[in-house]
Amino acid sequence: MDTDARFAFLQQALLDWFAAHRRPLPWREHYTPYSTWIAEVMMQQTQMERGVAYYRRWMERFPDAAAVAEAPEEDLLKAWEGLGYYRRARNIQAAARVIMTRYKGRFPSSPEALRALPGIGPYTAGAIASTAFNRPVPCVDGNVERVLSRLFDIDSPVKTEPAKSRILDLAIRLIPEGRARDFNQALMELGALVCRKKPLCEACPVRQVCEALRLGIAEERPVAGRRAGVVPVEAVTGVLLHETKLFIQRRLDEGVWAGLWEFPGGCIESGETPEQALIREWREELDFEVDPGEKITVLRHGYTTYRITLHCFLIRFRSPLPPCPEPPALREASAYRWISPEELDGFPLPAPHRKLADLLAERKILCGMPGGQGA
Ligand code: SF4
Repeated sequence: MDTDARFAFLQQALLDWFAAHRRPLPWREHYTPYSTWIAEVMMQQTQMERGVAYYRRWMERFPDAAAVAEAPEEDLLKAWEGLGYYRRARNIQAAARVIMTRYKGRFPSSPEALRALPGIGPYTAGAIASTAFNRPVPCVDGNVERVLSRLFDIDSPVKTEPAKSRILDLAIRLIPEGRARDFNQALMELGALVCRKKPLCEACPVRQVCEALRLGIAEERPVAGRRAGVVPVEAVTGVLLHETKLFIQRRLDEGVWAGLWEFPGGCIESGETPEQALIREWREELDFEVDPGEKITVLRHGYTTYRITLHCFLIRFRSPLPPCPEPPALREASAYRWISPEELDGFPLPAPHRKLADLLAERKILCGMPGGQGA
């Protein structure tokens, strides 16, 4: 089969297969730029089932770009809580504001204009331009890299040159005229459902033209690059209860977990015990003198290449108790609150702090403390 015939076969077989097998996902009911955009950003690093639940809640709360543009940032972060990478939610709002002001609420359709919006990279721009506007623009994600590297036996690491350009070139040339929307989704859907890490080649609609299958090396493609090393981080956090209230602080507007609320703490330095680190962190960040009490738990959490081990303590003010604590110094935070334990649910927390809050409620840990619930 020559190249043209092979391309034509791939196009038709994938379009037919997609028409018969595509999953009925909520953002496929109406291909609007807003729904495509939210779905694409939300599904990055998120399992499909979980992502669908988040997507439905988000669309109820923020049905269009105007609703996102006007919403308080804290509402967006709360709706995003648990998905991680909170910069994505902030970028959605920044981009929605540009769409409302510069484009009067109408999404641009060119990939160049889409890419100029905050947080929209080549993949998301390609997805919006092709899915919502049916423009012949590629969108290359991990699924597409895997499928194309197998179909065309690309034998060098897919994230670097020359494989990267080869894959992009194939993804452009393969788009059938007038069918970008369905074809791009078909490629991604094939990667998600059939050409998975362990491929289901017997169920594949394009197995006749798959080079890696012919050579018996499907599972050796795609060729991975060198992985970044995992960085272990030991950290500590403390839940301070005073009278009937808990102390929480809002993180700074820049950096990791920007703008989310947390129980203060920080990294354990070399040679320190978790308890010593806790006392130092609360002093350095807030000018609060505290003593660690019961160790509540140790949580493990992965964040990008970091593997965080978080030691969690109940803490109290060092005796003698101040009658009313001074306002904290807030050197690493932008705001603070004294809240009742039940109010924690209303604040957007990073995943490990949400786990800790759930544990406090589940084990009724605060009930036994002076001033805690039920005490
Ligand atoms: Fe992937 Fe197998 Fe289909 Fe080739 S034949 S594209 S390896 S599922």
